[in-house]
Amino acid sequence: MPFTVALTGGIGSGKTTIANAFAALGVEIIDADVIAREVVEPGSPALQAIVRRHGESILTAEGTLYRARLREIIFRQPKEKNWLNQLLHPLINARTQQLKALATSPYVLWVVPLLVENGLQHQADRVLVVDVDEGIQLQRTQQRDGISLTQAKNILAAQASRQQRLACADDIIDNSGTPEQALPRVAELHQRYLRLAATGRD
Ligand code: ATP
Repeated sequence: MPFTVALTGGIGSGKTTIANAFAALGVEIIDADVIAREVVEPGSPALQAIVRRHGESILTAEGTLYRARLREIIFRQPKEKNWLNQLLHPLINARTQQLKALATSPYVLWVVPLLVENGLQHQADRVLVVDVDEGIQLQRTQQRDGISLTQAKNILAAQASRQQRLACADDIIDNSGTPEQALPRVAELHQRYLRLAATGRD
């Protein structure tokens, strides 16, 4: 398996923006959100199992998973949340391992928004946290998603705190400046990860 750097950060911290900068350096990106969507694509065994359990009303008119409805069910019924996790986690894990095994870059960047919340930090060789203060997080999230301050605050409150996330970090990227200002730090970390992947030493 290639050396794995987990990249995480709160909503709107700039994970995608920073991941793109690593991708531009030739690093392969494995995106946990993309995998989570992939395993429940129309026609997938997991989506069929969900329909058997919850009925056709769990599908949209297009035949895709009606996420909002499923979210509502698992929010109200912890038993259903457990059932879903037991169904999806092994599939997500297997697909993640498969993509890692196929990777050809010296290390891979595994982008996992809920790394800390789901206790997945031990599945990576290194944890990189994209960090901005909460004011910036709220402002960028509101601007991007067109939501109110209250809505943005609610999402933040449901995630790990900045402190909890930073406590898990091996490395930190400060993304409070412009994206261009973060590039030297990305280049520096890239060199560090190449060294670590090749020699196991910093
Ligand atoms: P999410 O967890 O919600 O998917 P994210 O952590 O992937 O978010 P991005 O989508 O990369 O964050 O960034 C959030 C928003 O902030 C985007 O609109 C992005 O263009 C903007 N943004 C990211 N980095 C910067 C920056 N350094 N300066 C200004 N705007 C930025």
